[in-house]
Amino acid sequence: MGELRRIGFIGLGNMGGPLAKRFAQTTPLVVFDLDQSRIDPIVALGAKAADSVADLAEKTDLVFVSLPSSETVKEVVLGDGGLSSKLSKGSLIVDMTTGDPNMTREIAKILLQMKIEFIDAPVSGGPRGAQEGNIAIMVGGSLEQYNRISPILRKISTNVIYSGELGSGHAIKAGNNLLNLICRLATFEVVSLLVKDGVDPETAVNTIQKSSGRNYATEITLPDNILSGKMNQGFTTSLMYKDSNVALNLASLHDLEMPLGTLASALLSEIGNDFGWQADLSTIALSYEAGTGARIRPKDRSK
Ligand code: NAD
Repeated sequence: MGELRRIGFIGLGNMGGPLAKRFAQTTPLVVFDLDQSRIDPIVALGAKAADSVADLAEKTDLVFVSLPSSETVKEVVLGDGGLSSKLSKGSLIVDMTTGDPNMTREIAKILLQMKIEFIDAPVSGGPRGAQEGNIAIMVGGSLEQYNRISPILRKISTNVIYSGELGSGHAIKAGNNLLNLICRLATFEVVSLLVKDGVDPETAVNTIQKSSGRNYATEITLPDNILSGKMNQGFTTSLMYKDSNVALNLASLHDLEMPLGTLASALLSEIGNDFGWQADLSTIALSYEAGTGARIRPKDRSK
């Protein structure tokens, strides 16, 4: 891997958008997304817009991607007019998608024959962590690749972690999200119970957050998105369901039963069917409210 100077970013959605913004504030950047409305705010910060994936590949040698799934990454990297058709030898693609570790290894193997490197660097901490510059970035690749890329990743976050060999970042991220889903659903279940028993939801969450049941849902999800009435954390039900399945597929490759994970994924599937797959994950609150009759959102705000 030579000196990588020309940076590109593809996939400027809820997650890629704030990450690309952080790059654009300190570094020349070329960006691309299928949705023009996602491109404009990054260009306003000084980034240049590419006309297509291939156009971006011609102008860069270090490309970050933050796309819905590994299937999309494979298409953008290896498909017709994909990154690999125009990137020069020695280029590096950094996949910040929450992806499938096995597909990641497969893509990297094909790219290696073209002398293009591919590593995984998924993120955790949501749009808020990306905006604040402390999102966890978990890097899977050789130690040499990590040492090359980590100073560049530190331009966008103070929290860059070496996960291990290629695919390890994606494996840890999928495991993390399955755990987040289990804890999230368990938290809604318990808070619903407490509200039914007459406890104020905010008091329930604040008290658990100071007690041994605390987790990301009591620290961030409920206070920021549900109790505030905002009902928008910037992460769709569809993406969380994909993540839970990446983890469960990995488990079946290892012949592991995952009773809690399987149940959590099945419950989320019902919520996706009832409230819409592209809806924000905050609709989990609506599902618990409808199922239990316990009002968790503020009474005088959104219906
Ligand atoms: P999103 O749907 O908001 O953004 C995806 C972006 O990719 C969209 O702007 C879309 O137009 C673009 N896109 C899709 N196909 C494309 C293509 N072929 N070429 C160019 N652009 C294309 O999703 P997101 O929430 O930003 O998530 C992106 C990735 O980050 C996912 O893998 C997700 O699981 C992961 N992630 C999301 C969050 C979060 O809180 N939103 C947190 C951590 C990780």
